[in-house]
Amino acid sequence: MFVLKKADPPLRRRTVDKYSVEFIERVPCGNEIASFRFSRPDGYDFVAGQHLILGVQTADGPERKPFTHSSAPDDGYLEITTRLSGSAFKNALLGLAPGDLVEVGGPAGRLMLPPDTRCIRFLVGGVGITPARSMLRDAVYRDWSWDDAVLFYGNRDPSCMPFIDEFEAMRNRGVSVVSVVEHPDATWRGPVGFITADLVREHVDPADGIYLASGPPVMVTAMERVLDDLGIPDERRMIERFGPA
Ligand SMILES: Cc1cc2nc3c(=O)[nH]c(=O)nc-3n(C[C@H](O)[C@H](O)[C@H](O)COP(=O)(O)OP(=O)(O)OC[C@H]3O[C@@H](n4cnc5c(N)ncnc54)[C@H](O)[C@@H]3O)c2cc1C
Repeated sequence: MFVLKKADPPLRRRTVDKYSVEFIERVPCGNEIASFRFSRPDGYDFVAGQHLILGVQTADGPERKPFTHSSAPDDGYLEITTRLSGSAFKNALLGLAPGDLVEVGGPAGRLMLPPDTRCIRFLVGGVGITPARSMLRDAVYRDWSWDDAVLFYGNRDPSCMPFIDEFEAMRNRGVSVVSVVEHPDATWRGPVGFITADLVREHVDPADGIYLASGPPVMVTAMERVLDDLGIPDERRMIERFGPA
């Protein structure tokens, strides 16, 4: 399992700081997923892969939930990306108007790449893309070229694959994308179904690289089975579950 050195600054905090931030805008991806952007408070620094705790007033009262930053540490705003599930929390997000204040706590979490990572494979689906997006975008800011970064990216259908154009445009930095959809449309020419060990083997040699799986627990459990099939040892796995197993 990936171990972080004790001296790394974000982990020295015992409690997360809280900030009042302004909602800026919503960026939809199809009908089901959207990104929400907020102002970035002075002094709020995070490492790609970490999450924040978002607090909003819902119809059922105040609620707080964790969300991985989908923006990069150098972006001038904070962004999260989520499925619009119809819950009171998500409905409250949908009801925000520009300038409305919400609470952000953070940064939190230990999911972060070792600084010298050159070879990475992301096994992610849907909103599980958030840490990968932050890390890949961060690499662009840092003018970093990967030896080999492969994004195995599962989505329900081709109409909503968050940030796909941005990832495709990173090809010249050593990023390649293998998109898989569950429900193809008539134009889809790529793989159909889910990310499998066979699909991964078709594109990369499992002997190399770090494997990062993130997203809703069901998806991560499925990806851990894929990692087992591929024989990936714990020290080359990075796992982030978006909820209890
Ligand atoms: C470290 C961390 C990072 C996270 N990052 C993100 C992120 O980047 N984007 C994001 O959308 N969510 C993220 N989450 C999950 C997030 O906090 C919410 O739990 C999730 O979005 C579901 O909230 P909801 O209001 O839609 O559903 P709720 O009303 O809280 O859940 C209703 C039920 O729906 C199911 N469910 C629906 N969606 C999810 C989900 N995504 N994960 C688990 N169960 C689910 C569960 O069974 C749950 O009990 C993260 C969680 C953690 C712990």
